[in-house]
Amino acid sequence: MPDRIIKLCHEKGLKITGQRRVIARVLGESNDHPDVELVHKRATALDPNISIATVYRTVRLFEEHDILDRHDFGDGRARYEEVSDSHHDHLIDIENGKVIEFQNAEIEALQRQVAEKLGYRLVDHRLELYGVPLGKK
Ligand SMILES: [Zn+2]
Repeated sequence: MPDRIIKLCHEKGLKITGQRRVIARVLGESNDHPDVELVHKRATALDPNISIATVYRTVRLFEEHDILDRHDFGDGRARYEEVSDSHHDHLIDIENGKVIEFQNAEIEALQRQVAEKLGYRLVDHRLELYGVPLGKK
């Protein structure tokens, strides 16, 4: 949701410049966990004056203020998504880089149990599955 990022910026006291607004909008409308280059490509379609350096800085700023989550899905490129209230994990198609979000209550419970067995209360986790479509070797 584009407005949500702007709202979070306000709450966290970040100044909203015109370019930041454009980048926030692009991020809010992207559901595909884009990397900086893709965010830049989409942002320049709206404002051709936005530089890749500005996108880098803005994305880092948003990340530092817990507005964005950064992921590393194994290809060395940082990918971003809006922080969401509901937890989800990711399955990455290693052939085309497509990212599928999923939730699984059994996995969630199992992870809590594992942590507890090791003497910990689970506060967070990240889970990434890497796969190829069934039927392919
Ligand atoms: Zn996600």
